[in-house]
Amino acid sequence: MIVVLKPKISRKDELAVLKEIKRLGYKPHVMRGVARTVIGAIGDERKNHTLETLTTFPQVESVMPVQKRFKLVSREAHPSNSTIKLPNGVVIGGDKVVIMAGPCSVESEKQLLTTAHAVAKAGATVLRGGAFKPRTSPYEFQGLGEKGLKLLAKARKETGLAVITELLSEQQAEMVAEYADILQIGARNAQNFQLLIAAAKTGKPVLLKRGLSMKIEEWLLAGEYILANENPNLMFCERGVRTFETYTRNMLDLGAIPILKKESHCPVVIDPSQGAGRADLVTAMCKGSVAMGADALLIEVHPNPAEAWSDGAQQVSLEGFAKLMDELKPFIAAAGRS
Ligand code: PEP
Ligand code: MN
Repeated sequence: MIVVLKPKISRKDELAVLKEIKRLGYKPHVMRGVARTVIGAIGDERKNHTLETLTTFPQVESVMPVQKRFKLVSREAHPSNSTIKLPNGVVIGGDKVVIMAGPCSVESEKQLLTTAHAVAKAGATVLRGGAFKPRTSPYEFQGLGEKGLKLLAKARKETGLAVITELLSEQQAEMVAEYADILQIGARNAQNFQLLIAAAKTGKPVLLKRGLSMKIEEWLLAGEYILANENPNLMFCERGVRTFETYTRNMLDLGAIPILKKESHCPVVIDPSQGAGRADLVTAMCKGSVAMGADALLIEVHPNPAEAWSDGAQQVSLEGFAKLMDELKPFIAAAGRS
């Protein structure tokens, strides 16, 4: 911690601050400048008190941390990239860019199986589909629940795709984990810490979406909950954040990819569908994401987007998805991936 004192502080007031720093378990190192004094407080900020309370001393101007608040998700803790291996052999965070695709919501057996076969044929290896939907309005389709999970399991059996699906509450964690290969924590629940803990404790890999207005540090700290609860298989998923812009549903923050790659060892997934909110932008966003270093893409695909029960405007058709996959290939190769 760096503690900056106000100008022209008496020796007595300085000593009071030094005493408090020692009391809180740090070793103070005084640096006397021309105009003011700065104190370096040496100690592990993640184990000791944060020293923020020093700002209540009138002679203290500011207190700044030098260590990061997250630990287990940090690159420092794990210098090489983490990889997550799924039961169908798919590895997330390795050489291959993993494609997760499927409908926003599971609607029917026919809708899901048609989509699953089509996305598998086009090269996807993970099937997405919401059985529990976090809808903004209580009057909108809330998902098929366990019936939807059963359909996902059936689609997995028929196609060999792994399954990713969202859970909304701690009570659902065990049930969803019975059917899913990856648990999705949605943007609206990204800081629901009890849910994060429950998801972590199932032992299943967790995909943590970025919250609607979440700062990257908050996102990393939310991810820390997964690793701190003895689950090493965490991936971060950027899906756009809320801004002033209305051309898109959310503003997809591709800059988050190199930042996360620098700060963390966990794989990074991009969801261009929730980001764009419109199908015509999805392919371009996928290309950009791969170029920026994304490890996987989570794409909404529907056999008939015009009749989708949720997020119709942003879902690509089966043909659209096959074309997207073709167009993406040179970008994947150019990024040195397969
Ligand atoms: C979704 O994936 O369909 C979804 C609801 O995503 P998000 O939580 O990112 O809004
Ligand atoms: Mn959706």
